[in-house]
Amino acid sequence: MSTVNAVLVDSYDGELVYAAVCRHFEALGVAGDLTPETRIAIKPNLLYGKKPEAGVTTNPAVLRAVIRWLTERGFTNLVVAESSGGLFTAEYMRNVYAVSGYKTPGIQEYLNQDFTFGTRHAPEGSSVKSFNIITPILEADYIINLPKLKTHAMTTVSAGVKNLFGVIPGLQKPDMHRRCPDLDAFVGMLCELCQTVKPQITLLDAVDSMEGNGPGGGTVKHTGLTLASRDVYALDVTAVGFMGLDPREIPHLRAARQRGLLPEEITVTGDRFSPCSPAFRLPDTVKSTGFDDAVPRFLRKPAEFVLDTLLRSYPKVDRTKCVGCGKCAESCPQKIIKITDKKAGMPRKNCISCFCCQEMCPVHAISVKRGLKGM
Ligand code: SF4
Ligand code: SF4
Repeated sequence: MSTVNAVLVDSYDGELVYAAVCRHFEALGVAGDLTPETRIAIKPNLLYGKKPEAGVTTNPAVLRAVIRWLTERGFTNLVVAESSGGLFTAEYMRNVYAVSGYKTPGIQEYLNQDFTFGTRHAPEGSSVKSFNIITPILEADYIINLPKLKTHAMTTVSAGVKNLFGVIPGLQKPDMHRRCPDLDAFVGMLCELCQTVKPQITLLDAVDSMEGNGPGGGTVKHTGLTLASRDVYALDVTAVGFMGLDPREIPHLRAARQRGLLPEEITVTGDRFSPCSPAFRLPDTVKSTGFDDAVPRFLRKPAEFVLDTLLRSYPKVDRTKCVGCGKCAESCPQKIIKITDKKAGMPRKNCISCFCCQEMCPVHAISVKRGLKGM
């Protein structure tokens, strides 16, 4: 049985968030795990540099409260470690930290300055034999995973498990997409990565979450919740239920179930909460086909199957919004995006519909269109 602790938090007021972290860490017995020598890595979500109120990144108030909790108890051997969607270099990350509100007292003293990586073998039986992982995570004795609750164009939901993709160094992430080109392979790899990194604690920032075209281009939804657990899968199941979604429909949770990683039973302690109503809006990439009303209920599943077999979602650039920054081309695992006359062009041929391009576009110029597979 796994336990997930819930604490309602109405805003990012520093004292409120700190009180929530105290309750979580008390409930989970975190102090008993640590000594002053324990090397602690805190892994937030910094998809890219974005102001905290945009709901893309783990809010600095949550990170600051975790650091405060640790340092006030003498656990100061810690580092904030993340590799964003772009380059894993000092210069790139300096800008990400600054824009995201991490270059502020109580955080900036602990920001990672080591931009190297190493390799760790994946567990026996994994499809990926080993992972390249950023050094501060590799060297940590204790990992506190600090995800943000968001919808996700490819994986539907980004919470505890998906957040760990940020331990893959910089532009090696597109390479992982290339090696795992379909959704099942990708979410299976995410589970294997999670089993390789094995965070001790996951604390989810769902004070403000993201719905719609997450993880970068959705809209903020005030949800007023934090969840914490020693079991990242139990936390994700609980978070998905809170979003008003069915955990059985979420690809990485299906993959986790197939691998025997989901707990038989989850106990939720702490504050009571209800599933969001209405549920989180899903990304355009995973929305239903829209013909439900026109098709009798008993035919919807087969009709969806036929459409899914014939159609696929592809990215489409709005040339009036595109500023030609090239971030989409940089993140595309298939290297098919070309920037011509300061505008991005995306052919469908060889596109694997990973939506890294949409995720990384800073001006939300990329939308999703359904089209015939391979055309
Ligand atoms: S064009 Fe976009 S969706 Fe297609 S492979 Fe490249 S990054 Fe992925
Ligand atoms: S990331 Fe967005 S703005 Fe930048 S080139 Fe690509 S589509 Fe254009």
